[in-house]
Amino acid sequence: MSYSIFCVGHPLIDMQVREAEDLLTKYKLKANDAILADVEREPIYEELARERQVVFVAGGAAQNTARGAAYILPPNSVVFAGCVGDDDLAEQLRDANRREGVLDVYQVKQGQKTGACAVLISSGHNRSLVTTRRVSNDLDEEHFWSPTVAPLINSAKVIYMEGYMLTHRADISIRLAKRVSSAGKISVLNLSAPYIPRLYNAQIQEIAPYCDIIVSNEAEAEAWAVSNGHPEPTNMSVVAKAIALLPKANTIPPRIVVVTQGALSTTVVSADDFAPKIYPVQPLREEEIVDTNAAGDAFAGGFLAAYVLEKNLDICIETGHRLAAMCIGQEGPRYKWPKVQV
Ligand code: ADP
Ligand code: MG
Ligand code: MG
Repeated sequence: MSYSIFCVGHPLIDMQVREAEDLLTKYKLKANDAILADVEREPIYEELARERQVVFVAGGAAQNTARGAAYILPPNSVVFAGCVGDDDLAEQLRDANRREGVLDVYQVKQGQKTGACAVLISSGHNRSLVTTRRVSNDLDEEHFWSPTVAPLINSAKVIYMEGYMLTHRADISIRLAKRVSSAGKISVLNLSAPYIPRLYNAQIQEIAPYCDIIVSNEAEAEAWAVSNGHPEPTNMSVVAKAIALLPKANTIPPRIVVVTQGALSTTVVSADDFAPKIYPVQPLREEEIVDTNAAGDAFAGGFLAAYVLEKNLDICIETGHRLAAMCIGQEGPRYKWPKVQV
C-alpha cells in the first residue's frame, strides 16, 4: 500500500501548559473550546514562553490525525500538506512527522513564522485551544498541483480536511473536495471547532456535497444544528441524521456522519439507512488520563486507518476510540512509542 491517506490542514506547534485555570480567567477563555487569538489574546504566547513551563509538541488538527493514522498503517501510507515558515518550529514538526511515519509536503514561505496553538489544560480533563495561524493560513492552491504533491493526491484513496481550512480561502478546499470526490476518492471533513459551523456555516454547506464522511464532536454538531435552525440541537442522533441528509453530489458511497462526545458514546449515522448507531466509549480510569488534547484528532486517525484497511464501520469506530484513548494517555497529541498493537 502506498500513501493511501492525504491530509490537509494548518501545521501548528502546540504550546501546552497545565493548571491553566488562571490563564482561562485572564484571557477570558472557556475551559473546553478552540478559538483564534484576537488582539487581546495575542500576548498569551509570549507570556507562556516567559512565565510557564511549556511543553512544545507537534500539533495541528489534521497533522495529529495524520500521525495517528500512520501509527496504525504500514510505512508510506500517510501524507500531510500545509504551509510553514523557514523556522525552528517547522523543523520540530518535520522531526515529529519523520519519527512517526508521516510524509510531510510543506509549502515553505521564507521569512515567515510557523503557526502555534496554546493548549491550556485545566481540571476536569478540559483543554482550551488558542491558535495563532501565522503563515499556516497562506497555503496556495498551486501547491496541491505541484509536481511533488499532485501525484500524492492522485494516488490517495482518502483525502482528509480540517474544518479550519474553511475560514480562509474556503474556495481552495471546496475545489479540492469537488475534484477528489468526482475522481472517486473518499473525501473526509472534520468540523474541527464550534466556531466553524457557527461562523462558516455557508462554507460547510458548500463543501458538504463533496464530503463522504463528516466527523465532529458534540459541541461542533450542536453549533451546526443551531446555525441551521434545527429544533433539537443537543440530540446527537437527530443532528447526525440531519448532517447525513445534506445534499451529496454522488450517491455512492452513502455519507457517514460521526459525532464523538468525549467520554460519552459516539453517534454514527450512515446515509444507507439513516438509523443512528450508538457506540459506547470505554471509560478511562482517572489515572489513565494525562490530557485530552487532540483526542478527537486521534479518533479520526484511528477511524481513517481502519477505513482504508477496508474494515467495517464498527471496527473503524472501535479503532478510533482505541487510538483516542492512547492519545489521552500521553502528554499532548502523541501516541505510545515504542508502538503497541491498537
Ligand atoms: P474532540 O477532541 O474533538 O473534542 P472528543 O472530546 O469527542 O473529541 O473525543 C474524541 C474521543 O476521545 C472520544 O470519542 C473518546 O473515544 C475519547 N475521549 C475523549 N475524552 C475522553 C474521556 N474523558 N474519557 C475517555 N475517553 C475520552
Ligand atoms: Mg471534546
Ligand atoms: Mg476535534
